Amino acid sequence: MISDRHNICQKQARSVLCLPLVKQAKLIGVLYLENNLASHVFTPARISVLELLASQAAISLENARLYNDLQEREAKIRRLVDSNIVGIVIWDVQGRIIDANQAFLDMVGYAQEDLVSGRLRWTELTPAEWRDADEQIITELKAVGTLQPREKEYLRKDGSRVPVLVARALFEWKPDEGVSFVIDMTDRKRAEEKLRASERRLLDARMELAHVTRVTTLGEMTASIAHEVNQPLAAVAANAEACLRWLDRATPDLDAARRSVEWVINDNNRASEVIRRVRALAKKTEIEKLPLDVNDVVKEVITLVQRELTSHQVSLQMELAPALPMIMGDRVQLQQVMINLVMNGIEAMQSVTDRPRELVIRSRQNEPQQMLVSVADCGVGLSAEDADRLFNAFFTTKSGGMGMGLSICRSIVEAHGGRLSAFGNEGSGATFQFVLPLHQEEAS
Ligand code: ADP
Repeated sequence: MISDRHNICQKQARSVLCLPLVKQAKLIGVLYLENNLASHVFTPARISVLELLASQAAISLENARLYNDLQEREAKIRRLVDSNIVGIVIWDVQGRIIDANQAFLDMVGYAQEDLVSGRLRWTELTPAEWRDADEQIITELKAVGTLQPREKEYLRKDGSRVPVLVARALFEWKPDEGVSFVIDMTDRKRAEEKLRASERRLLDARMELAHVTRVTTLGEMTASIAHEVNQPLAAVAANAEACLRWLDRATPDLDAARRSVEWVINDNNRASEVIRRVRALAKKTEIEKLPLDVNDVVKEVITLVQRELTSHQVSLQMELAPALPMIMGDRVQLQQVMINLVMNGIEAMQSVTDRPRELVIRSRQNEPQQMLVSVADCGVGLSAEDADRLFNAFFTTKSGGMGMGLSICRSIVEAHGGRLSAFGNEGSGATFQFVLPLHQEEAS
């Protein structure tokens, strides 16, 4: 300002006029006029003309600045659109695509010519089953203006489909038009599919391993099973002989013979039942959940491991709560869990010589919605360090162990929505227990 005043004095101006250029109460410039020839040239009449001029100049200047801003903004948007980081589409609600960047055209396999020709319509790029969702989206957009990204699919020019994530907004100044930001999800979907496939393979491998261990366990059980089947078979033979004797009498006792035959049938059914259970164990099946009484599962397993218990001098105590509510479970898989826990318990007591080898199986309703089954032994117990690792696949402390039993048991229990855990007993040995949710009808 000082130098300006100095300038004015130097030029020896005789009349000077300075008018502020104001637009909407904002000073946007100053109109400065000078006359070196005469004083008082800026009469009120001239000043009012100049004031009018100044207000027009202010408007023009402001417009020029706004236009400049707009151009700058447009250039920035253009840069974003042309950077092709994401697909960008400008469209109207009637289905027309007004503009789209190369990234979007690449996604849907169309060329610039298709766009320029005006033939491209987003409604036609949308597969039939997504159209209702799109209509819904337009209604929502009209209400709220912008929408969070949502998944959909577009049809490519070659008829294939591209999965995408689309964020949309309507233009405030043109509520019939809007912009979409589109991300191609093909790679992501492929990665997800790969992950799902590998999870499926892992599950299959687990099932396969479960089957292997089940069969291995079966091998160990063969002797026990033979014993189980032999018993009813011996009874069948004895009762059949008795029947013959009743019939061979001078006066055949038909009632006694009939009773003997009924016993034969019963024993035969018992043997068939054992064989059926063994086959169910050996058969590789998908998980099949049915309403079950866990006590039945426990009892079935006991018949299978009875011989192992006897040969290892293990006494079994059962504390099964009567009339338990049902659970939903796969009988064969839960049998497998029980067999593993019981066999582990027997093995953990193998080195015990200074006290009776006792195994206690308990069942009870734990919480209103849960069933608890536990297997407690008085064997070697668990070290704090091992307790963390027991359930890891391939963790074993046995020379011939596979370390798969508990890991599979845990998978099975978890597939039933339950939890398998272990802890050391206060005295000696360890307790392994699992909880399972009740069958819905029982729980409610
Ligand atoms: P494996 O029996 O083939 O070793 P498991 O998964 O059944 O595999 O068990 C893993 C390990 O957990 C066993 O090697 C053993 O060290 C420990 N373990 C399992 N059950 C018991 C138990 N009842 N008492 C003490 N340790 C146990």
